[in-house]
Amino acid sequence: MKKLIFTAVAALATLSLSAQTQVIAHRGFHAQEGSARNTISSLLNAQKLGVYGSECDISMSADDSLMVVHGSRHPDRSIPAPHRVHVTRDVYKDIRAISCEGGNIVPTLREYLVQTKKYPGTKLVIEIKNHKDDTPERQQFFTKKIVEMVAEFGLEKQVDYIAFSRIVCDELVKLAPNNEIAYLNGDLTPAECKERGYTGIDYSKKVLRIHPEWVKQAHDLGMKVNVWTVNNTEDIQYFIDLGVDFITTDNPLETIKLLDNSHKGKKAKKAKKMRK
Ligand code: MG
Repeated sequence: MKKLIFTAVAALATLSLSAQTQVIAHRGFHAQEGSARNTISSLLNAQKLGVYGSECDISMSADDSLMVVHGSRHPDRSIPAPHRVHVTRDVYKDIRAISCEGGNIVPTLREYLVQTKKYPGTKLVIEIKNHKDDTPERQQFFTKKIVEMVAEFGLEKQVDYIAFSRIVCDELVKLAPNNEIAYLNGDLTPAECKERGYTGIDYSKKVLRIHPEWVKQAHDLGMKVNVWTVNNTEDIQYFIDLGVDFITTDNPLETIKLLDNSHKGKKAKKAKKMRK
């Protein structure tokens, strides 16, 4: 009997462990010497760190290349031409010619998927970007191309999708119904997202601070909750305590540390309760 109770407690403990908040490295783990956002280097750092996932931004160039670049200007708006490109108006070779910090190059999605495959334990969280010039038809076109390329690599189970665009998310519901699909824009309730077939909400910290009740609502609907981009200690702790499923952060080390502490705290509390 004693053994049975112990097994039940152990099972519960495992369950509560698996329900813990997990870490997603925003644009990879780039806060490292020689690394840069959205590069093979930041993806590799996240993979080595062993977090749940590494997020990346996919944009389509004027000549239909899928590239890991945030945009719409690369490297950013403050850099004058000709040292700056526009990720939807310029072509592959021109975007590729402008490197990121530390000499890191802008990878293609294909190169990113090759690297993703090397670490099956780390998910690639693909944000499908839609820029000002991207018509609804073009959004549907690149969404299909991305889903097809993921399938070509056999990585369907190692990829989650996120997007601000409802057109992109709706297309994903049709093309990748078995994947996690989370909406980023913050203007739909969990119930409205569920209705459209999305599996999660991935909202900014500002939106979820205004609507903390959306976390429980989403969970009650069987949906996941992700929050972006949470970098400082106070915010990270707030969202751990709120019970979100994922924290997307530029600061994965601090997030892991706070999660460990809160995990230890919970375990100590539980042990104290059991002793009573
Ligand atoms: Mg992103």
